[in-house]
Amino acid sequence: MKIQSIFFRQVVSHILVILFIALTLSGSAIYFIYTGNLIEKKAQVKQLLVNVADTFNEELKNGHIPTVREWQLARNAIGMPLWLEDADGQVLRGQMYPGYKPANRKTGEAGLQEKPQIAIAFNGLEALVITMPVPIGDRTGFIVAYSALNSNQYILERLARFYILPFIVGTIAAILLGVVLSRRLTRSIADIARAADRFSAGDYTSRTSIVGEDEIGSLGQTFNTMADSIFYTQQTRQEFFANISHELKTPLTCIKSTTEALLDGMAENDAEREHYLTRILAESNRMSRLVFDIMDSEQLESGKMKIKQERINLAVLLERQADKVKPQLVRKNVVLDLQMKAEEPYVIGDSCRIDQVLDNLISNAIRYAPPDSQIVLGLTEENQCLRIYVSDHGEGIAEEALPLIWERFYRVDKSRNRSSGGSGLGLSITRGLVEAMGGTIQVQSKKGQGTTFSIKMKKA
Ligand code: ADP
Repeated sequence: MKIQSIFFRQVVSHILVILFIALTLSGSAIYFIYTGNLIEKKAQVKQLLVNVADTFNEELKNGHIPTVREWQLARNAIGMPLWLEDADGQVLRGQMYPGYKPANRKTGEAGLQEKPQIAIAFNGLEALVITMPVPIGDRTGFIVAYSALNSNQYILERLARFYILPFIVGTIAAILLGVVLSRRLTRSIADIARAADRFSAGDYTSRTSIVGEDEIGSLGQTFNTMADSIFYTQQTRQEFFANISHELKTPLTCIKSTTEALLDGMAENDAEREHYLTRILAESNRMSRLVFDIMDSEQLESGKMKIKQERINLAVLLERQADKVKPQLVRKNVVLDLQMKAEEPYVIGDSCRIDQVLDNLISNAIRYAPPDSQIVLGLTEENQCLRIYVSDHGEGIAEEALPLIWERFYRVDKSRNRSSGGSGLGLSITRGLVEAMGGTIQVQSKKGQGTTFSIKMKKA
């Protein structure tokens, strides 16, 4: 369990809340037991004092102080230290408990009350001191009883006190912790929600800065990754449509202008008419190739391309391709060296699609090979794989362009390739097809020396 995780924090905060509630409840229980105990004791002592006051009432009203003997009897009857004070705190009868600091009843310090009440804690000990106002002649005096708390009451009193501070500190800490944690949590969620709102309103650069270690942080990271990928898809889609329109525009313009020229009677004889019609046919072929390439590319991209699984003899396919490109080779005066070094040239794949792959690689090699040069088409065995390679001694591909040649519509030299018929979709389709058949394709190229494409497929 990670310390930064929200799960961990939730668990800790729940444990803290449970502890806090347990402490509060037990503290309150102790406090109520303690105060209940005191109230009971207070009532008992009060009753005893009322009895003493009643006994001496008449005597005191007349201004007579009870005798030592009478006082001693009263003290023994209630079983606790008992004395009579005047309003100045002077002891008139009995003995003040040693160490008790008499209160100045006139100035209203602790203890001066019409009713009996409790005074606690003097001399380091907890005690119950109850005073009962009585008339002494025309003045007021006080009968005071002192009762030390027993050990149980003392412990309860200590515990009740011990709980007050932690209770207050705990309450404040719990509130602060709750507020801080909740704010952090809600602020993070609000930040991600704002970023998502901006994004859905069309601001594709909108990202969240909440990318921490906890669950919300990873939600933020996931949002950013998702936003990146939507942004990328959006951009490539736009580029894709821009490229398609651009690629279709050239042959369409050519077909249109040539047809118009024909209709305007520009062709003066049959030979000229044939020349115009051949151009229209070539451009139509180019457009139809492009449309098929776009369809293949879309199917590969969406994973909907249907690939047959048949046992294929690669040697036969390579020989057929070598035969097929003979006219192209002659036209460019390029020689094809066919190197067949595989004894068991079988793979599982789609023969039409392998034909398409070879067709693209060989036509590229012929296109980029210089006149009077040699290109190689070969097949070898490597462990459990077969390797097809197509090499030329053409201009090669610059190192920085090598990773890009697999991208849709990428062309190293844009103007030259358009004039020579390439749309830049060939290699992206080639790689898609090879990978869809479980193979891999690689390129090695040196500027000015030539290029080799290698395909590896598992033997059947
Ligand atoms: P195109 O239809 O333009 O040939 P490809 O996807 O087949 O598109 O190739 C992409 C780019 O890779 C080409 O425009 C070209 O610049 C480069 N390329 C491909 N094959 C070769 C090669 N044999 N020699 C040099 N450059 C090549």
